[in-house]
Amino acid sequence: MRVLVTGGAGFLGSHLSERLLATGHEVICLDNFFTGQRKNIEHLIGNRNFELVRHDVTLPILLEVDRIYNLACPASPVHYQYNPVKTIKTSVMGAINMLGLAKRTKARILQASTSEVYGDPEVHPQPESYWGSVNPIGIRSCYDEGKRVAETLFMDYHRQNAVDIRIIRIFNTYGPRMHPNDGRVVSNFIVQALRGQDISIYGDGLQTRSFCYVDDLISGMMGVMEQTVSIGPVNVGNPGEFSMLELAQLVMELTGTKSRLIYHPIPSDDPRQRKPNIDRIKELLGWEPTIALREGLVKTIAYFDQALATSQTKSQVD
Ligand code: NAD
Ligand code: UDP
Repeated sequence: MRVLVTGGAGFLGSHLSERLLATGHEVICLDNFFTGQRKNIEHLIGNRNFELVRHDVTLPILLEVDRIYNLACPASPVHYQYNPVKTIKTSVMGAINMLGLAKRTKARILQASTSEVYGDPEVHPQPESYWGSVNPIGIRSCYDEGKRVAETLFMDYHRQNAVDIRIIRIFNTYGPRMHPNDGRVVSNFIVQALRGQDISIYGDGLQTRSFCYVDDLISGMMGVMEQTVSIGPVNVGNPGEFSMLELAQLVMELTGTKSRLIYHPIPSDDPRQRKPNIDRIKELLGWEPTIALREGLVKTIAYFDQALATSQTKSQVD
């Protein structure tokens, strides 16, 4: 099949593109390079089944495709809050443009939604049936509400125009190819630990997240795309729940760093807890995560160790 991956040069998009090519598909990787990096997909350039298109999803595009994975959107709070108006435009106009493309080409389309649609959840763990608790006017709203509207658009294009849709709600995912300055907690802690810098804990560090290793996430995402039972939404994540202090301790143990913890104010609307209920995807695909946090962190630390060493050598040469 010919598969369009929007946000294909980003962290998840580059892993997805790689897996799609390995499965024998043609991939059109579309990206505006806001947070994506050319080096994430450099190894795919030259593959005759891979095509790179620099384009912004807020603008329409004419392509002929069989599948669309709509991943274009900055995912780290630091990046999505940099230009909040652009963030919400990317989610809303991006969804409209990609749904329009799906409608015209009759392609099946999957939306990369997020656990952020649950906001600061009052139900724990979060099942897909929970409608969420989102502040519509806070600093996270450009992302959370943009993703909620995108889900609405997907459901309405399905009801009104019979577009073949899938929606997944991704919980915090980590792994190689996260940007060192991404600002999300796993990359921050690992980079700080490897550089011997203070580990930045926001708030008391007792807030929780559930961390999924990227390879597991991609298997779940591709599985949901190809099943024909549920148009979504489907949670994809690892139910292992950790406080930020527990995460910091694990990163410190695995890197053997002498870094110390330093406490910063908690950003506003930072959710207190988050953990997926994954009954639906288990039932649909028999999918569950296979890589525990410790194992995934070892792989991710090895990646950053090498990436930081290479960038240091490069800057010395430059
Ligand atoms: P990322 O920032 O690494 O990737 C996003 C990609 O989209 C980048 O390559 C960026 O340049 C591109 N992009 C941004 N705006 C664009 C636009 N207007 N037009 C074209 N391209 C644009 O983030 P990621 O972690 O790979 O996330 C990918 C998707 O998954 C996002 O939609 C995100 O909301 C969703 N998601 C990710 C996580 C996670 O933990 N990684 C969790 C929930 C949801
Ligand atoms: N966080 C932290 N230190 C950091 C970065 C993040 O303690 O250097 C906390 C943040 O306040 C949040 C959690 O880690 O409670 C996860 O943050 P991230 O930005 O990775 O994702 P999200 O909040 O979107 O789940």
